[in-house]
Amino acid sequence: MSKMPTIKQVRAFTLRGGGADYHDQKGGHWIDDHIATPMSKYPQYRQSRQSFGINVLGTLVVEIEASDGTVGFSVTTGGEIGCWIVEKHLARFLEGACVTDIEKLWDQMFNATLYYGRKGVVINTISGVDLALWDLLAKVRGEPVHALLGGAVRDELVFYATGARPDLAKQMGFIGGKLPLHHGPAEREEGLRKNLELLGDMRQRVGDDFWLMYDCWMSLDVEYATRLANAAAEFDLKWIEEALPPDDYWGYAELRRNVPSGMLVTTGEHEATRWGFRMLLEMECCDILQPDVGWCGGITELLKISALADARGKLVVPHGSSVYSYHFVITRQNSPFAEFLMMAPQADKVVPMFSPQLLDEPVPVNGRMRASALDAPGFGVRLNPACDLHRPHTH
Ligand SMILES: [Mg+2]
Repeated sequence: MSKMPTIKQVRAFTLRGGGADYHDQKGGHWIDDHIATPMSKYPQYRQSRQSFGINVLGTLVVEIEASDGTVGFSVTTGGEIGCWIVEKHLARFLEGACVTDIEKLWDQMFNATLYYGRKGVVINTISGVDLALWDLLAKVRGEPVHALLGGAVRDELVFYATGARPDLAKQMGFIGGKLPLHHGPAEREEGLRKNLELLGDMRQRVGDDFWLMYDCWMSLDVEYATRLANAAAEFDLKWIEEALPPDDYWGYAELRRNVPSGMLVTTGEHEATRWGFRMLLEMECCDILQPDVGWCGGITELLKISALADARGKLVVPHGSSVYSYHFVITRQNSPFAEFLMMAPQADKVVPMFSPQLLDEPVPVNGRMRASALDAPGFGVRLNPACDLHRPHTH
């Protein structure tokens, strides 16, 4: 019935060095500077997250070529394992399908991997395929992805900045700054004091009307997180992010009851699928959902997560995700602002979030991005040909 092209070939590659696996940075970067993690209880893994392998996966690149020669692609975290899943398992559903078959393909990929998948690297990989499918369909139609999602609901995106220097982020025009928490419960009272000192110092530097948040990267327990949140109220902490391990829905519900009135509890970057986020919503774990578009199931699943959240009056502000977030956030009323990861090693200037892997990747200017910066077909980015692609498996 349709003149739409079909999918001719699917290819999966790995890439090292920053980009979609944004933890894969060289030394001296703020993102690996003694950040509190669930591994911080082991002193030998406390100073560096790379020491316990945060960057072992690397970037997964998915390319999908259509019968008319159009190529859609995406980048996410997944590396060689992701390549294997794409080439050896998922490609069978994709090749020969129509480029419009996105919903059916998601359902087939998810159900065919249920016996070893559901979350983690399998869902990262399905997300990567899904994003490449959206990129492909939008390019075939000659439209930006956001036009396929219902169109922009505002003229521009506004951003908060994640990084070590909220004071500089304020000067660069962002609406808020989110700091990594440096010290976990194993560093006891001295660590808690240092955490509060840094927040107090930043509050002094940025003044009253600038959001400050703490990202705790799953490192705390309910008792410590409650103490931190209550003490941080003095410095007007806007939200406490991912304080607990993602499986501790009960802990999140308790923390949300414990935090001072007006302080938000946020989480979700390591949660996946409509069912995972339904748990966060129904157990009243948080105020803002933060799915990573490249890890939660892709745009197809994010639309469902967002609808669930909207019906409950909750915001969805995706974690990182660069253009995959921008094209989504601009289309949703319950996503009123976006995150920008400061990937400059000292967080002192704006560089594209997935640098150096993408070309034409837009960045905020004065903390804002015009909707018109997202008008190129697909997600509007190209894979940087200077990057050293490796295809470990074929099919
Ligand atoms: Mg986070």
